[in-house]
Amino acid sequence: MTTILAEQAVAAQEIQKQESAISIQDVHRIYQLGENRVHALRGINLEIGKGEFVAIMGSSGSGKSTLMNILGCLDRPTSGSYFLDGVNVAQLPKKELAAIRNRRLGFVFQGFNLLARTTALENVELPTLYAKLDSEERQKRAKHALEMVGLGERLDHFPSQLSGGQQQRVAIARALVNQPAILLADEPTGNLDSRTSVEIMSILQKLNDEGLSIVLVTHEPDIAQYARRVITFRDGRVRRDEPVVQRPRASDVLVAMPVGDED
Ligand code: ADP
Ligand code: MG
Repeated sequence: MTTILAEQAVAAQEIQKQESAISIQDVHRIYQLGENRVHALRGINLEIGKGEFVAIMGSSGSGKSTLMNILGCLDRPTSGSYFLDGVNVAQLPKKELAAIRNRRLGFVFQGFNLLARTTALENVELPTLYAKLDSEERQKRAKHALEMVGLGERLDHFPSQLSGGQQQRVAIARALVNQPAILLADEPTGNLDSRTSVEIMSILQKLNDEGLSIVLVTHEPDIAQYARRVITFRDGRVRRDEPVVQRPRASDVLVAMPVGDED
């Protein structure tokens, strides 16, 4: 009898993992630096459901980037398990991780990371080169992604001809073009003024409303409030994990904000 119950519990756990976008259990990450061991993550447990919008906060050195690298399949945990969209990815070989990264994940960084001599449309098309698509279909998808971030009229602009906020929107379109299961954003508003930051958050809120799962790292409490849930790290552990009450709508906040000259 007990074994049946135990099996049922395991089965229930498996189902929960399948419904989670991200499910990590007891993840540790120890960096070996010569003689020194840096214990950057000390037993992280996290369930992030499909369609969630999570902000990760915490002071410098608390393990946020280490976690994001693992979530983004750029790095593997020293121990513990990681299910991404129901697939156990913690110990997959590097080549398979790269394939998952291209197909399942979208990345947005603080520094935009656009190719300078390349138009907005071409920048967004780049990640589709891995997919087996003809060039017409590639362009169509890239154009659609740029329309989703409100840049349908700027397809042929080069990054230097776009404001910082517009460049970040191109980067978001690039992250979306392969229709990822999850968007991972590391300080996406870190280089932007406050109004432009809220504009970016309004785009992320809209995408999340449409079903995209988002994990965002930020050190700004105001920005974190636009997520649905805030997780705070400290010394490699989850210190707090709370839903946002009375979440502001970035589009409403924008109406009340002065229009400055955009960078
Ligand atoms: P955060 O992003 O919250 O600032 P990190 O995840 O970058 O924190 O770092 C967590 C801890 O791990 C810090 O003590 C940092 O010095 C250490 N660390 C991060 N990356 C490496 C690395 N590649 N090699 C050795 N130690 C690292
Ligand atoms: Mg960091």
